[in-house]
Amino acid sequence: MTSSAQEVLALYGGPKAVQTDPGDMFDWPIVTEEDEQAIMDVLRKRAMSGTEITELFEQEFAQWQRTQYALGFSSGTAAIQAAMYGCGVGVGDEIICQSLTYWASCLQVYSLGGTVVFAEVDPDNLCIDPADLENRISSRTKAIVVVHYLGHPADMDPIMEIAGAHGIKVIEDVSHAQGALYKGRLVGTIGDVAAMSLMSGKSLAIGEAGILATDNLEIYERALTLGHYERYDERIQTEALKASAGLPSGGYKYRMHQMSSAMGRVQLRHYDERCAEIQKAMNYFWDLLEGVPGVKAHRPAKDSKSTMGGWYAAHGLYRPEELGGLSVTKFCQAVSAEGCGISPGANKPLHLHAVFNETDVYGDGKPTRIAHSDRDVRQPRGTLPVTEAMPARCYSIPWFKHYRPQVIEEYAAAFRKVAENHERLLADDPGDPEDMGGWHFFRHR
Ligand SMILES: *Cc1c(COP(=O)(O)O)cnc(C)c1O
Repeated sequence: MTSSAQEVLALYGGPKAVQTDPGDMFDWPIVTEEDEQAIMDVLRKRAMSGTEITELFEQEFAQWQRTQYALGFSSGTAAIQAAMYGCGVGVGDEIICQSLTYWASCLQVYSLGGTVVFAEVDPDNLCIDPADLENRISSRTKAIVVVHYLGHPADMDPIMEIAGAHGIKVIEDVSHAQGALYKGRLVGTIGDVAAMSLMSGKSLAIGEAGILATDNLEIYERALTLGHYERYDERIQTEALKASAGLPSGGYKYRMHQMSSAMGRVQLRHYDERCAEIQKAMNYFWDLLEGVPGVKAHRPAKDSKSTMGGWYAAHGLYRPEELGGLSVTKFCQAVSAEGCGISPGANKPLHLHAVFNETDVYGDGKPTRIAHSDRDVRQPRGTLPVTEAMPARCYSIPWFKHYRPQVIEEYAAAFRKVAENHERLLADDPGDPEDMGGWHFFRHR
């Protein structure tokens, strides 16, 4: 790539860095006649509410995920709630999670009578910081929900070591990272149980659905009792669960829609190949930007044997100090003007939302966050400084689904051009607004 120093930014009337029509570069999931056929089969059989196709998908998913058991759900939210229940989270118990995540990594713990304590993130991988875990553990901690955030594998070795030392279960929320590797190991196989979303915006996208995967029979069976009444029968082996068979213990109905499981069977067959192409494309994008001031890749080191899976909702790290303090908001505005639409921030830190502070959801006469606690676990603004600083240090990047070097080079050129010509932007930079990012930063279709 040629240096673009002293070029006129598109924001000030110069030519756009991105000139080529991206075509289907960003279309996801990839839907072919194979998906259409699978879904039409379900429709013609009128088998939307059955479980036989879902059970085939579960077997294939378990084989792909390399776990003994897999259980399909109607959503990732339900799968993660069931994983919590499977781990024994109940009234008065605490889970630990990062605050920089989508709400469904943790908020459903309220429905079990539990609460959440937030830990800081590592500012380079944006996943829970193992160095902050011990500070958050109490005698009530039952589980840590580890989010492999925006596709980046969390640092599982120290997390597992700390959890093990305290007898705490580890739930991996794999919603962003299906197929990612941590030091050569598939994420979702390292903790006690994995649960994830498979909804249509995620990297493994099969409709509205979630799945739970584990090697632990008791966790699997407890998770099943919550909302899979039609499968809660004499097949249950855990002694303590047998007496309540027949009805869902949680009072929920959580089975997967079979149009989703049918599509899932097709998507899974192509997933590794499609991820490999995404990885090639995304790594090429970041390789082109190596050494450019202000921007830093959110990806594991090349020699780490860790990968980003399908690069869900790919983001980059921002270093305003390398660009004279330019706000990420202004930076994104300038890159977008080059024909590469991006936005500043990531998920808003959850600990700042009312539902984690004052909302009394169930009429306990006090905020639900502390309804069953013997201490006030709420974390007002200022208590998680690393997390709170992150929205001003992140931005979305194009999520390429295909390796087309020429197109990728144009998008990378947009970032380089803005970084190299940032001084002009400093003059009319109003700075970042106080509240950046969104509670859900995607408007999924
Ligand atoms: C999408 C998502 C979920 C919830 O999944 P749904 O299928 O939308 O219910 C949970 N955790 C994370 C991190 C997510 O991004």
